[in-house]
Amino acid sequence: MQKFIDSYDFKGKKVIARVDFNVPLNKDFKVTDDTRIRAAVPTIKKVLEGGGSIILMSHLGRPKGVDRKYSLEHIIYKVEELLGQKIEFCPDCMKADEQAKNLKPGDVLLLENLRFYAEEEGKPRGLADDASDEEKKAAKAKVKESQKEFTKHLASYADCYINDAFGTAHRAHASTALIAKYFPEDKMFGYIMEGEIRAINKVVNDPQHPVTAIIGGSKVSSKIGILQNLVEKVDNLVIGGGMAYTFVKAQGGKIGDSICEDDQLQVALDILKAAQDKGVKVYLPKYSVVANRFDNDATKMICKINEIPDGWMGMDVGTDFLVQVEDVINSSKTVLWNGPVGVFEMPWFAQGTLYIAKALAKATQEKGVFTLVGGGDSVAAVNQMGYADKVSYVSTGGGAMLESLEGKVLSGIQAIME
Ligand code: AMP
Repeated sequence: MQKFIDSYDFKGKKVIARVDFNVPLNKDFKVTDDTRIRAAVPTIKKVLEGGGSIILMSHLGRPKGVDRKYSLEHIIYKVEELLGQKIEFCPDCMKADEQAKNLKPGDVLLLENLRFYAEEEGKPRGLADDASDEEKKAAKAKVKESQKEFTKHLASYADCYINDAFGTAHRAHASTALIAKYFPEDKMFGYIMEGEIRAINKVVNDPQHPVTAIIGGSKVSSKIGILQNLVEKVDNLVIGGGMAYTFVKAQGGKIGDSICEDDQLQVALDILKAAQDKGVKVYLPKYSVVANRFDNDATKMICKINEIPDGWMGMDVGTDFLVQVEDVINSSKTVLWNGPVGVFEMPWFAQGTLYIAKALAKATQEKGVFTLVGGGDSVAAVNQMGYADKVSYVSTGGGAMLESLEGKVLSGIQAIME
C-alpha cells in the first residue's frame, strides 16, 4: 500500500486532496497570509506533473451553514497565482459530479467550503438552546447517518485520496479521516503531512539522544498531556513561561501575583516526581523579570522567582536561565520547543522567547541539532525573527501538533495507516 506520494503513479488518475486553505481574509476578502496555500503547492504540483488531475477540498473558518463570507471562491485568485494556472471552482461540494468527471490531466478543481455542510464535521446544527438530551442524541445520530452519504459522495469524485491538511489531522471529519476507507489501496499523505510525521517521529518516537523539551506557555492544564508523555521520553525538561509559576508555587515558592493554576499544584509535583524517577533533568528559572501590572509599560525589576512580592507578577525568565538553556540546547541532539517562555507579545517581555528562538537556530546551523518548533506562539516567535528556515522544522498544526506530542495517534494519520 502507498502511503507517501513520491512513489505513487498519478498518470491518468483523479485525486481528491484534503488541503488546509483555512487562510485569513481581510474585509475585502483578500488573503492576508498565504502560507497555507503556498505550503500545499508542492503536493498539488506533484500530482499534476505526474499526469493526474486534482480536486481540492478544504474548510474556511467556522460557518454554521452556507455563508458567502466563508466561501472558498475568495481565494481562487491566490491559488491560481501560486500554482501559475487557471483552476475550476464548484460552488457546492456535493454537486461536483460533472466537473470531476470532465477533469483532464493537469486540471485543478476547487470545491466550495466543506463546512457549509454539517456532515463534514458530523456535528448537528440548529438545535434549540433548550433541546433535551434525547433531541440532541437524535440530531447527532441523524447527522452521523447523513455523514456516510456525504463522505461517499466526495469519494466518488476520485481514484485516490491525499491528506495534506495537518492542521485538521486530529479531527475525525469526513474529509480528514472518514473518506480514507473508500481508497483502501490508494490513500496517502501529501508532503506537508509527510514532513510533520517525520519531524514528530524524530522527536517523540525515534529521537537521537540527548533529547530536550522546552515547554512554555501560560497554563499547565493545557500542557499536562504533553508534559506527562514527554517526561517518559526526554533527557532534559525545560519549563518556562506562565506555567513555571505553578511549579514554583507547588514547591513552596512565593510567586506574588504571577499567573498560577492552584488546581494544578499537585499535577506539577507529580510531573517533577516522575522526572526524578526517570532521571530526567528539570530546568526551571531561578530569576524572573517581574512587573507591577500586566503591561509593557509597567515598572519592571528582576527578582528571585520564588520570592516575588505581592503586587508583582513574573512576565519573563531571567538571563541566567537563558544562558543555561542555551548550554542544554547545545549539548542536545534533539530539541523540541513548544510555548513562549514569557509574555512575548509585549516587547519588554519578549527577550527570553526571542533568545531561545535564536539559540535554537544557532544550534541547528552550527551543531546540526535537530530542532522542532511546534505550537502556535513559539512558531510565531521564530517567524517574527526570521528564523523559520534556520531551525530544522516548524510545525504548521497547532492542535494537531499538541496531540501528537501528547502521544496520541491522530485520526487523519490513523485513517491512512490502517
Ligand atoms: P500557550 O497558548 O499555552 O502556549 O500560551 C501562550 C501564551 O502564554 C502567550 O500568550 C504568552 O503571553 C503567555 N505567557 C507566557 N509567559 C507568561 C507569563 N509569565 N505570564 C502570563 N502569560 C504568559
